[in-house]
Amino acid sequence: MSSFASARLKLTAWYLLIIMAISSAFSLVIYTILTSELDRLSAVQRIRIERQFRTPYYIDPDLVSDVKDRLIVILFGVNCVILITSGLLGYLLAGQTLHPIEVALEDQNRFIADASHELRTPLTALKTEVEVALRDPHLNLIEAKKYLSSSLEEIDKLKNLTNNLLSLSRAKSHDKLPFTSVDLQSLVTDLCKLSPRLENQVSPLTLQTHPETIRELLSIFIDNALKYSPASKKVYIESSQHSKSVEIKVRDQGPGIKSADINLIFNRFYRADSSRTKTSTNGFGLGLAIAKNLADSIGGKIHVRSQQNYGSTFSVILSKKSPSS
Ligand code: ADP
Repeated sequence: MSSFASARLKLTAWYLLIIMAISSAFSLVIYTILTSELDRLSAVQRIRIERQFRTPYYIDPDLVSDVKDRLIVILFGVNCVILITSGLLGYLLAGQTLHPIEVALEDQNRFIADASHELRTPLTALKTEVEVALRDPHLNLIEAKKYLSSSLEEIDKLKNLTNNLLSLSRAKSHDKLPFTSVDLQSLVTDLCKLSPRLENQVSPLTLQTHPETIRELLSIFIDNALKYSPASKKVYIESSQHSKSVEIKVRDQGPGIKSADINLIFNRFYRADSSRTKTSTNGFGLGLAIAKNLADSIGGKIHVRSQQNYGSTFSVILSKKSPSS
């Protein structure tokens, strides 16, 4: 039995225990009150009849005990009905209570498995390189340097992956971020210093947002646009204003994304074209998952437009109003 099935049964048993303890206590109280009322009623009735007719009068004790027995049977029946209905309802309720925890735990387990798998690839390569170098009795300095620089590449991959994993967990935290006035044009001018291929076409605009988050988010879009489009092509950073929102776009002239992949690229560790991306570009499929969490943390929405062979535009749509106003 899975741990959730047994947790569900345990929770149901606890619900039942509490409900039956309350119901049994009530039944006991009802039984005690009713039987003592019955005894008092029969005593009063006996005194009244004796006074009125001046003859000794006895209420059939079997009749009284019969009424008490029937009371026990009725209360027992009521408790059985409560037991069955609250058992069924409790089981349903326990399932509903545990479902979000089950989903979160499955998600976490999948994440750990994926992360371990990603960590294992560079670690295995690193181990093989070191072993080959150690086993070679005629290793000269030039060959040793070749092995070392190749190992350094794998170490860099590991460092990038752990940095990405840390960013992902940070971006997922639900702490409220402090918003300030951000001059979008100068923030993008700063980002454009990263590469001469970047063109700032953002119009002058001040936004209430969290500057580090928007910077990190745009950096991911920019990084991908530079990575996936030919080195000769420019990448444009643009903005457009709507009545209640602002859209900041990163447009490239790269290969575009297949429509079947568009919804999947935000999944952790998803790389749209594994043969291409795993070899020629370094990435772990975490960038867009981080970007989505970052956008959520500042109340933004990510939008993708892409046409194969023409390019892609990744944008974030932010509300003009700050969340507190
Ligand atoms: P990665 O580290 O692989 O870049 P991301 O989560 O940033 O991971 O992106 C997921 C996938 O989406 C990439 O592997 C790539 O196939 C696709 N992708 C993202 N941005 C672009 C882009 N600008 N042009 C084409 N494909 C892209």
